[in-house]
Amino acid sequence: MRSTAGAWHAIGGVPVDSEGSLVANAVIQRASGKTEIARVRFTLPKVPPPVSQPLAVDSSFTRPLDAATIARIDRENAHAREIGRLAHDRPPMWTASFLKPRTSVITSEFGSGRLFNGALTTRHLGVDFRGAVGEPVLASNRGVVALVDNFFLAGNVVYVDHGGGVVTAYFHLSKTLVAAGDTVKRGQQIGLVGNTGRVTGPHLHWAARYGAITVNPLDLVALGGKWYVSSSSRPAAASRTSAAR
Ligand SMILES: [Zn+2]
Repeated sequence: MRSTAGAWHAIGGVPVDSEGSLVANAVIQRASGKTEIARVRFTLPKVPPPVSQPLAVDSSFTRPLDAATIARIDRENAHAREIGRLAHDRPPMWTASFLKPRTSVITSEFGSGRLFNGALTTRHLGVDFRGAVGEPVLASNRGVVALVDNFFLAGNVVYVDHGGGVVTAYFHLSKTLVAAGDTVKRGQQIGLVGNTGRVTGPHLHWAARYGAITVNPLDLVALGGKWYVSSSSRPAAASRTSAAR
């Protein structure tokens, strides 16, 4: 997307455990119809080792799930990935920087390892904000609501498609205030904090996707103002990149 005169910017995502470097192919489609590919090599930041968060949890959290539940989780994960892929088909909708969905304290960072009763399970692929049931959850930026549903792990969820491949998601809500297809404003209240899904207490789990890849939503906030799409800019010809390790 164009953000300043003469400069074009693109965003991309890499899996959380990626290390070393990667080459991104930026596909540039000229108005003439000609296509060029610019190859750019990036060095990835070192991935911090998982930080354990011992949680004394009820055995219902560590008991193996039955086949029907595993199939349901797989279906829901596939649905979420598909929403991410479809976000590439929509031009970027945001005209200002991304906001945190709550102003409260962050209680768990993105990427931290999780210990359940002494066993390391998966990395935490979102950011947790403190909150009591009923407190507000705000849309991080302008977008179209892609999904409102009830997921086994995430409980009541809202997914917002911001275009340009970017999706933000809001989990464990006690109540949702929007419907699929709604256009939401940056900072609009879209739901209430809750403890639905597989959680030990009320909080907001905030997630983000770039296409099918889960990324740190705070990286969107860190982009700041320089990344917004000015109203005079055209849909990004160069915003879609494909990365190869
Ligand atoms: Zn979380």
